Amino acid sequence: MRSIAMINQKGGVGKTTSAVNISAALAATGQSVCLIDLDPQAHATLHVGASAEQDALSIYDVLVRKASLADACQQLNEHFWVVPSHLDLAAAEVELAGEVGRELILRDRLVEVAGRFDYIIIDCPPSLGILTLNALAAVDEVFLPLQPHFLALHGLSKLLETIDLVSRRLNPKLRLSGVMFCMYDSATRLATEVSRDVDAFFEQARGQQSPWSQTHVFQTRIRRNIRLAEAPSFGQSIFDYSPKSHGAEDYQQFVRELLGGG
Ligand code: ADP
Ligand code: MG
Repeated sequence: MRSIAMINQKGGVGKTTSAVNISAALAATGQSVCLIDLDPQAHATLHVGASAEQDALSIYDVLVRKASLADACQQLNEHFWVVPSHLDLAAAEVELAGEVGRELILRDRLVEVAGRFDYIIIDCPPSLGILTLNALAAVDEVFLPLQPHFLALHGLSKLLETIDLVSRRLNPKLRLSGVMFCMYDSATRLATEVSRDVDAFFEQARGQQSPWSQTHVFQTRIRRNIRLAEAPSFGQSIFDYSPKSHGAEDYQQFVRELLGGG
């Protein structure tokens, strides 16, 4: 099983869009996928059209009320499950403040379902708080979505420092395994320059002792595509909403690269 957290403490970089559409593309190849929505805004939950009904268990119940992760999984199609989020999750940080080992709750819950899935994908909130720490302690891999913006690398050192700390104190397996560009506009010089800087940064880190010494900078860029922005309000992945769009093409190609075929 591979477990991957989509992390960037900046909002609006493409974490949720990528978590949902990568999960959907993997499920379409027959891999069994569980998408965990760890953001109180519940955008991934809405994007996949999962119910946010009062009586459905959410990741809030798993973290705070110690419900089992298996009970909170909702099946979306043959190979695709989601653990929904809930607005209540916004209070989890405060509610868990006094609890010993509060960073390790998700890790312990994941053990229960580890054998059931080929992929666990976690959509994280735009912060490095207790929810993101739970994801970092639970997974083996981090994917970092970036917008090719001149501030793209701003905040990267804080993120790397957090990954490094978690890998030393809580989760020795943790690696920054992938960096991906979202909302990429290949026609701009800025995009080309930022992606060159990112390539150079991870190239010089090779061979050093760090969780980013083997980071793969994905060659598949996710282009800016309006269909990707429209799909969430229909509760559909890009493959259901607009299967012939650039967005569908790019996430499909991305998953091919992820699976090692392209
Ligand atoms: P995050 O989860 O990092 O906050 P989102 O995935 O929610 O980022 O993306 C932020 C906004 O940009 C959303 O409205 C989303 O629909 C839109 N978006 C994401 N990726 C693309 C893209 N490749 N092209 C156009 N719009 C996109
Ligand atoms: Mg998001």
